Amino acid sequence: MSAPIVLVVEDESSIRDMLSFTLQTAGMTVQAAGNAEQGWQLALNETPDLVLLDWMLPGVPGVSLLSRLKSHEKLKQVPVIMLTARADETDQVQGFEMGADDYVTKPFSPRALLARIRALLRRFDDATLGESVVAGRMRLDTTSHRLTIDGDEVKLGPKEFRLLQFFMTHINRVFTRNQLLDEVWGDRVVVEDRTIDVHIRRLRRALEEHGCESYIQTIRGSGYRFSVTE
Ligand code: CA
Repeated sequence: MSAPIVLVVEDESSIRDMLSFTLQTAGMTVQAAGNAEQGWQLALNETPDLVLLDWMLPGVPGVSLLSRLKSHEKLKQVPVIMLTARADETDQVQGFEMGADDYVTKPFSPRALLARIRALLRRFDDATLGESVVAGRMRLDTTSHRLTIDGDEVKLGPKEFRLLQFFMTHINRVFTRNQLLDEVWGDRVVVEDRTIDVHIRRLRRALEEHGCESYIQTIRGSGYRFSVTE
């Protein structure tokens, strides 16, 4: 992925400089604006991957720029993090209602802010790239190696992840233990048939908490099958 472009709209030059420095050090490209109008022009011209938007701006307030961004056909999917000087819940509620994706109160630590930025970039990246496999209530992101069920993350070991990925891309087909071993472990690795059963059990246990264990079915005398049972 090329360097993400982050648009910073902040009137206080010391904070703007600190943000620019932090983001550039983290490998991001920064576009900086000192007011809402300038920010809007940059957003239109550059289509940033994310916007850091100060609430208190001279002239047009940050929240007006937020609503302008969120009602623009091309820019509305760009994630926006609002920055504010005080932890005012009214502001926060209003910000989220207007479509802000996250909210950070000053003073903030650059590291914490970076973590929030990265999380949002990842989320939107996955959504736009669509490198994921969906089956029933389960979604497997093959780039970030995450499984979510109804949006909740489910922790899986690497073997269970590969096993599930294979199943989810081969729905409704029955595979023998040997076939699964070849597919998931590779045919040069010598493991016992029973190894598969161990990993199937672990996988089912992880899915059980979310009521999806029945997606993985034992076919007597044959092996296993993945199928959406609801
Ligand atoms: Ca300000």
